[in-house]
Amino acid sequence: MNNSEKDLKAVVPGILRIFRKFWPHIRQRKFLIGGSLLALLFETALGLLEPWPLKFVFDRIILPGTNANSWNVALPAGISPMMLLTYVAGAIIAIASLKSLASYLSTYGMALAVIQVLAEVRSHLYSHLQRLSLCFHSKHKSGDLITRVTYDIERLRLVTIKTALPFVTNIVTIVGMVGVMFWLNWELTLIEIAIFPFFIFFTKHLVSRIRKVTRKHRKTEGAIADTTSETIGAIKVVQALSLHDMLEDNFYKQNSQSLDEGAKSLKLATLLEGTVQVLMAIVMALVVWRGSLVVLQKGLTPGELLVFTSYLKSAFDPMRHLSKQAGQIAKATASGERVVDILEYEPRVRDLPGAKKAHPFYGAVRFQGVSFGYEPEREILKDINMTIRPGQKVAVVGPSGSGKSTLISLILRLYDPVAGRILIDGQDIREYTLDSLRQQISVVLQDSMLFAVSIRENIAYGKLGASNREIETAARLANAHDFIMDLPEGYDTILSERGANLSGGQRQRIAIARAAIRQSPIVILDEPTTGLDNASDRAVSEALNRLTQGRTTFLISHNLRAVENADLILYIEAGNIIERGTHTELMRQGSRYAALYQMQNAINYSTRPEGDSYAIEV
Ligand code: ATP
Repeated sequence: MNNSEKDLKAVVPGILRIFRKFWPHIRQRKFLIGGSLLALLFETALGLLEPWPLKFVFDRIILPGTNANSWNVALPAGISPMMLLTYVAGAIIAIASLKSLASYLSTYGMALAVIQVLAEVRSHLYSHLQRLSLCFHSKHKSGDLITRVTYDIERLRLVTIKTALPFVTNIVTIVGMVGVMFWLNWELTLIEIAIFPFFIFFTKHLVSRIRKVTRKHRKTEGAIADTTSETIGAIKVVQALSLHDMLEDNFYKQNSQSLDEGAKSLKLATLLEGTVQVLMAIVMALVVWRGSLVVLQKGLTPGELLVFTSYLKSAFDPMRHLSKQAGQIAKATASGERVVDILEYEPRVRDLPGAKKAHPFYGAVRFQGVSFGYEPEREILKDINMTIRPGQKVAVVGPSGSGKSTLISLILRLYDPVAGRILIDGQDIREYTLDSLRQQISVVLQDSMLFAVSIRENIAYGKLGASNREIETAARLANAHDFIMDLPEGYDTILSERGANLSGGQRQRIAIARAAIRQSPIVILDEPTTGLDNASDRAVSEALNRLTQGRTTFLISHNLRAVENADLILYIEAGNIIERGTHTELMRQGSRYAALYQMQNAINYSTRPEGDSYAIEV
């Protein structure tokens, strides 16, 4: 079996897979969908009736002598040819009007159901993406994920409405026509059916190739979105390092590849349509040739041959479109499967069955034999044990890449340990619901993300529904109130993307306000003052000291001057806590921490004579 055949075989299972995943949303609309399907059947039946008035005109009025062996209803007595003509004219109008009405109901009903289902799927996809663990996000590029939420869903919507539904209508119409044609003359019908194997062979072959090229094309489009978002996200670095030419070269290659794949897909689709047209012309020629002989031998009336050829002609159109539609459906299936791929990912970190809402924490944190690795084969944290009392200030220090941020992220359950457990107030944190756990932990990171909304909303993100008074109190605690009031719009100032219209220190103070508004018993600070100048460092450190007052605090810092006052310092190296104690104890011990401290002091003294790095009172 070659690859393209395998690809084609994947279309139907792909559609079924999409259908199964979307079923809960589809099921909710069973009456709307059922009603629309009924209307579709009416539409098809009326379509089959369309040429019959003309048959009556031919066989009863224009050529009444040639009715020989075929099906003919005797006219009730007293119906004149003129009356029959009037009935026929009325029937033509009635059939067309009813068919339009049925078509309107089926098309609108189905389209409405599709729009509703896909809007729900998109919301589901968005919330699912937010809940997928960081492990998932670190393995998937954001541009690709964005394409799935936007482009893939949109294509699925367009193709389902504009292609898949007409495709179903066409299939039902063709089946109905073949049935009636068999009844009229099986021999002529067989001639038509004989062409089907050729038709299916060419369609199958080309559709599978189209699908393969389209998958590749989608992948390239995803890569283009990634490159663009990465470039725009890092525009400062791009400009500062003059990376334009190099990035443009890469982009040009991806763009050309996308162009080639797009052209190939177009070529195949056009080829498919042309092939079908030729096959159709052959079958029409055969039917006209053989059908005329049958009429001359009185095996069929002229009116019946008219019905026959008119069916064939009206089947041409759907048949011709079937191939194009099949191609488009194959493309949309690829999009749908990309959506389902994401929906089928289970968040690794999630509420366990029976998880309970956490009580208000005291803040006792305990690690018992905790080990963790991002990949199974590489352990990042090894058998970590520690007991932290409520309100204790813990500093986590050590070389870059030793596992400090990883250790802290486990408390938030951004990842779950591979072995061991973490307890808060004596209970395994996996027994709490994720939301109730995270709501009681405040976080300030080195680069605290702010959102492109007002400062007021950014602070309120720490506690949804917070009052203006709470927001202002948090901002005051964070040393942010004064600079916010100096902005023309004050708290209503809208930030640019990631808060780029504020200085680093200002962004940090808003992040501290966002953390403070939670009033949570546990606070995590991951290098919150790194990269700030002296004045900002002082303002942020002051704010942090207020934020952490009376709360269990974990501070990661490379600057050992900032951690001198901690109740407990953990020195981590290669995923192990190799030293622990207060600053005085560790200095007395004279080992790794002491050596690093002395080295930093010497550097500080030579580069910053005023020696001004501010201790965060942890
Ligand atoms: P730094 O002081 O530089 O911030 P750190 O001590 O906080 O470093 P971590 O960020 O915890 O170190 O990283 C510990 C190790 O885990 C590093 O070797 C890093 O490469 C690896 N690591 C971190 N995040 C991931 C991830 N998402 N996927 C795979 N490996 C990761």
